[in-house]
Amino acid sequence: MEFRDLKKQYRHLKPAIDLAMANTAASGAYIMGAPVKALEQELAGYVGVKHCLTCANGTDALTLALKAWGIGPGDAVFVPDFTFFASAEVVALEGATPVFVDVNEKTYNIDPDSLNQAISAVRAEGRLRPKAVIAVDLFGLPADFASLRAIATREKLFVLEDGAQGFGGSIGAQRACSFGDIATTSFFPAKPLGCYGDGGAVFTDNDEWAQLMESYRVHGKGESKYDNVRIGMNSRLDTLQAAILQVKLQAFESHELTDVNHAAEQYNRKLAGLSAWLSTPTIPQGFGSSRAQYTVLLDERVDRNNLQAGLKKQDIPTMVYYPTPMSRQTAFRNVKAYVSTPAACRLAQRVLSLPIHPYMTDADIELVCTKLSDILKH
Ligand SMILES: *Cc1c(COP(=O)(O)O)cnc(C)c1O
Repeated sequence: MEFRDLKKQYRHLKPAIDLAMANTAASGAYIMGAPVKALEQELAGYVGVKHCLTCANGTDALTLALKAWGIGPGDAVFVPDFTFFASAEVVALEGATPVFVDVNEKTYNIDPDSLNQAISAVRAEGRLRPKAVIAVDLFGLPADFASLRAIATREKLFVLEDGAQGFGGSIGAQRACSFGDIATTSFFPAKPLGCYGDGGAVFTDNDEWAQLMESYRVHGKGESKYDNVRIGMNSRLDTLQAAILQVKLQAFESHELTDVNHAAEQYNRKLAGLSAWLSTPTIPQGFGSSRAQYTVLLDERVDRNNLQAGLKKQDIPTMVYYPTPMSRQTAFRNVKAYVSTPAACRLAQRVLSLPIHPYMTDADIELVCTKLSDILKH
């Protein structure tokens, strides 16, 4: 069994993807060809924002946002302690200081109470200027943006939505990647909307920031590529990836998002009887998840390593996203802790992600649940 069966997806979409790739090869416009702009318009329309700019990857997308806001040395940027490394890495790379915030143990997303405590602690110390909060839509579930927006308004912070895993999620009728002042996503192959290499995008309603990010994306260009008004990056999405993403976005909209949610609901139903050993993911009322991962929380009594090894013997792959909170990463050993992060630390020890993707059959899910149940009960 595959953890995320991208080859099966390709088999389903093969005629359209092969055509898109062949057309790009024949076009000769390998950088910034017509599919790039077309895709950006389709993505902006899907998400419901004014501007979408694609770029080289999800990490660069976060960097473009920080650069547009001029975030740098002396600035504090609040980041959930339980996330993929890139969410915090970009802050340090710009010379700003990441301040790690605890997460909610049920949603796995940034905890607004812990954020309030962290802001107070930073202000009381008086060394750093609180500038922004990076809210990650972890495993596909949008963060608690109503609470975060209230805090950000009061504290005059920018909200950066890291929607690398969130694309396709929603709160009410509003789609993920539209909740931040700027939002980002990643098209890394295993993300909800993935390409065949690296890719990413930024989203915003703000004209000025969109223009700045467009400049930073191509060597800080001014009037032209050879008029350089600021120090920028080389961070474009290849035409080939854009053409592939146009095909994949259609499949995502027409059935993949529904199918992956169906898979998650099958898991929820079949794992309900194992509540003594594990908790299934919590999706709050009114929220929609893109189901980037199906991550269960194991009870303290369960030996995660043994369980993973037992499943692996049955050809069932599992992953631990993520084994180390940001505050415990070696690279951040010199970063000061302003609040404690007990939930993030517990999650890192007890989460387990099961195989999930839109092309997973009910029989596959049944098999995972049966084997999981056998191992837990014996
Ligand atoms: C994948 C990911 C990123 C980085 O995206 P890349 O395209 O791999 O650079 C950033 N944040 C989160 C939460 C991610 O999952």
